[in-house]
Amino acid sequence: MLSPTPGAAPPPLRPDSVTARFPPGGRGRAFAAASEAEWNDWRWQQRNRLTSIDALERAVTVTPDERRAFAESNAMFHMGITPYYAALMDPEDPACPVRRQAVPSLGELTLTPADMLDPLAEERDMPVPGITHRYPDRVLFYTTHNCPVYCRHCTRKRKVADPTSAAARAQIEGGLAYIAAHPEVRDIVVSGGDPLSLSDERLDELLGRLRAIPHVEVLRLGTRNLVTLPQRVTEDLLKIVRRYHPVFVNTHFNHPKECTREAFEACRRVADAGCPIGNQMVLLKGVNDDPQIVKELNQKLLLMRVRPYYIYQCDLAQGISHFRTPVEVGLRIIEALRGHTSGLAVPHFVIDAPNGGGKVPLMPEYVVAHEGKTWTLRNYAGKQFVYEEP
Ligand SMILES: *Cc1c(COP(=O)(O)O)cnc(C)c1O
Ligand code: SF4
Repeated sequence: MLSPTPGAAPPPLRPDSVTARFPPGGRGRAFAAASEAEWNDWRWQQRNRLTSIDALERAVTVTPDERRAFAESNAMFHMGITPYYAALMDPEDPACPVRRQAVPSLGELTLTPADMLDPLAEERDMPVPGITHRYPDRVLFYTTHNCPVYCRHCTRKRKVADPTSAAARAQIEGGLAYIAAHPEVRDIVVSGGDPLSLSDERLDELLGRLRAIPHVEVLRLGTRNLVTLPQRVTEDLLKIVRRYHPVFVNTHFNHPKECTREAFEACRRVADAGCPIGNQMVLLKGVNDDPQIVKELNQKLLLMRVRPYYIYQCDLAQGISHFRTPVEVGLRIIEALRGHTSGLAVPHFVIDAPNGGGKVPLMPEYVVAHEGKTWTLRNYAGKQFVYEEP
């Protein structure tokens, strides 16, 4: 904090000092001619998504490797990038953390023996199509296969972006019936794909039907729109969400570059509408496998009223081995956060265990020794302390 010097002008209002840290994302080189109204219209953003190599070429200087990776991966997992997200990519640097998340790379073409089509066994734990019921009191509910940007590291590559896997109306009805018939289910993670890819009307109906089930308590929207299409957060959308509280929003920021003025504004509006926002970061080699980057990201997220919730170890989905980091990297990140910055900025590091084991939290070890009633502990700075159980 700067201390005010006597006689100097008063410091700017607090909201300005916060928002000043969030520069607008810009238009990038492909969409400089778009009008303000077009740019701010989420449907325009959807319609103008980059899905071909020609479109990508207008936004960035495509490398031969990216060109080949696109040609060989597109049939399996489409490319889709909103103009907004494309504008955050460095046009000249293929290692740009935003670009790595959205543009195909050759690593995707390598399948390792450890790769699995459905690493989390989400299909196996499906009592009815479109519902994964793994934990006692909550379910994942797949509502659409669409996302504004197809993340190259997506764990649901097997179905996301594939129109034949879209949740048909009949499937959604089946999911609603399952939840209604299971009084132990009190928390619904509305997921996909990205549920904000649904129209306002369909979202309104879905949330309304869920809220009408008496034993349903918590609704969560798992959405990356705050990161990839912040224009989606319209007043109409918020009007709907406000009707069905408590609605939690869990989003997926992976890098400080994604914390733009537009994203800030979208989070502000969602938070003002009464939704607590959590962040589920995926640990990705070359994107955020560095304690300093995660610290900067999480501190920025707090300014956006987004609470870091999980850091996921990159899972064993097919064709993402180039993103995987050793488990120690995640532990080192937690170690570098805990005690060194706000506890609010310290999420849980979890491995979603293969074959349906669910999320398992991992922690650096703070117990140095434990004998009888004597616990020898170390603190974040490495100093040792003894706690005797009374
Ligand atoms: C992650 C997940 C949830 C939600 O888990 P929380 O730890 O409560 O956030 C629920 N169901 C499935 C299948 C999941 O993968
Ligand atoms: S937004 Fe989520 S579901 Fe969609 S592609 Fe990205 S990681 Fe996958």
